[in-house]
Amino acid sequence: MKKLKTLQILAGMLLAAISAPAAGKLNVMTTTEDLAAIAREIGGDKVTVDSIAKGYQDPHFVEAKPSFLLKLQKADLLAVVGLQLEIGWLPPLQTQSRNAKIQVGGTGYLDMSQFCQILEIPAGQVTRAMGDVHPLGNPHYWLDPENGRRIAKAFVTKLSALDSADAAFFQQRYTDFDRRVTTAMKGWEAKMAPYKGRKVITYHRSWPNFCERFGLQVVDYVEPRPGIPPTPSHTLEVINTMKREGIHLILVEPYFDLRAPNAIAQQTGGDVAVLLPSVGGKKEVTDYFKLFDYDIDLLVNLFQKHK
Ligand SMILES: [Zn+2]
Repeated sequence: MKKLKTLQILAGMLLAAISAPAAGKLNVMTTTEDLAAIAREIGGDKVTVDSIAKGYQDPHFVEAKPSFLLKLQKADLLAVVGLQLEIGWLPPLQTQSRNAKIQVGGTGYLDMSQFCQILEIPAGQVTRAMGDVHPLGNPHYWLDPENGRRIAKAFVTKLSALDSADAAFFQQRYTDFDRRVTTAMKGWEAKMAPYKGRKVITYHRSWPNFCERFGLQVVDYVEPRPGIPPTPSHTLEVINTMKREGIHLILVEPYFDLRAPNAIAQQTGGDVAVLLPSVGGKKEVTDYFKLFDYDIDLLVNLFQKHK
């Protein structure tokens, strides 16, 4: 009896394995959920999309699980953020997947940083030994919807190259996405307009593109350097800066320790805003538009509190 059951389960698994990759669909892997969300906007039902990092994880530090290897082995396309965001965990997965398509320079490798507006490109030589995890410029560029548009456009080009029969379909979906971004942008900009020029502190340098787009000024960071945890002396500097410049908000990504930000808020009468840097940062934030809806509504509420 037990044997029969095992056989049935095995047969079921076999069937699932055979039917899993739907016929003709491109297998798209992305490193982050933001890229996955935009890939879905463009690919629709012509693609299957999965991301390695989850939106609630720090994308600089992701555990390289064996399950990712299986997915990368079958991928037709791997889209990455680039600028060394994934350098701590992606290269070994790529190599071990033995999938030639998704290696750097392969037909199925797409580095989105090449198409986007990149901020904070260092003038001199910067090495990771100095603790800076952004040695080539700021990799958190997807937090400007205009870069979201550029990412979408890059997906159109690449997906069309891999599946030319559906090129018109991808283009039509881009046109629709582009139109929805334009409409949403008007709403977001209108909501943020009263707070133009407001100064904020952020934990990590995740928000330069977001703040530039929506008119906020980042004055300092809880981290003394990108990737380096807070130190007492730097925390004191941040407290003094906030008091001196009348700053009330500390923007913190959900995966950082809240102790230092909370202490700073307490000392300054300010507020900690746990802003989401990625789609999937909360269960209800399921697409690229909801990400900005969530962050902007949260910010507006807190700005209203500190008039
Ligand atoms: Zn970073």
